[in-house]
Amino acid sequence: MADRPHLLILGGTGEALALADAARAGWRITYSLAGRTQRPAVPEGVEVRTGGFGGADALADWLRAGDVAALVDATHPFADTIAANAAAACDAAGVPRLKLLRPAWAPLPGDDWRDAANLADAATRLSGLGQDIFLSVGRRDLGAFAGVSGKRFLVRTVDPLAAPPLAGARCICGRGPFSVADEISLLREYGIAAVVSKNAGGDATYAKIEAARSLGLPVVMIRRPAPPQGDKEGDIVEDADAATNWLAGRRGRL
Ligand code: NAP
Repeated sequence: MADRPHLLILGGTGEALALADAARAGWRITYSLAGRTQRPAVPEGVEVRTGGFGGADALADWLRAGDVAALVDATHPFADTIAANAAAACDAAGVPRLKLLRPAWAPLPGDDWRDAANLADAATRLSGLGQDIFLSVGRRDLGAFAGVSGKRFLVRTVDPLAAPPLAGARCICGRGPFSVADEISLLREYGIAAVVSKNAGGDATYAKIEAARSLGLPVVMIRRPAPPQGDKEGDIVEDADAATNWLAGRRGRL
């Protein structure tokens, strides 16, 4: 086991956990988290580090110092800063990089989606959608809605918030995955008229979209940021199995 090459997984997603489990026999894995939640899910049997690296140059130094043989960026599709940093750092340090990017959701019959280019655009699209809005965008992005008036927001976070993030917001805690039945109950209980969501993709947070469909509620769906510059064809995969195969290919060439 001592001669396993070093793999850095940038994590914080279910796919990253699955990949760490699948890859740990062949790689000495460091699993990296930003440190945003108090009790994050972490993979068993691998080293976990927490906190930013200090930018792209510092990440490149970290890769060199740790003799990292491959990096998989399995962060959330909206984590665009770390994705860009990973791309730049791998280019600088000559480390092979894979982006694990789950497919985006696509609207199905019965969905009433209002396309938003980004968070700021989503905030402008709430007029005419009723008063009570389920703002399901993540704690760090709530500020984009601070200038919206005439709405009462429902905010759900993993950890309790020290202070209400928006004037008049109602705050609840919860960690996915959620069931469709529970999401329907939640939307009914709070009299929700519309949902705001990032197009995260995946199963863990999809139930709210299904719940909105079944209640006939509009969803302001925020488009994903573009993947980082420098991605070469073949360096993006959609799931942990494909990432495991990519790693097996790299392992065979070391
Ligand atoms: P971000 O805006 O792209 O990154 C901001 C900074 O946080 C980065 O520059 C980096 O700091 C640090 N960072 C981010 N991810 C890191 C990681 N996995 N390991 C070490 N440092 C990391 O990131 P974000 O959108 O806040 O996401 C942070 C974490 O939460 C990620 O692990 C992501 O997978 C997870 N997450 C994000 C969302 C979302 O909606 N954005 C949703 C669910 C989970 P330095 O520059 O100092 O290195």
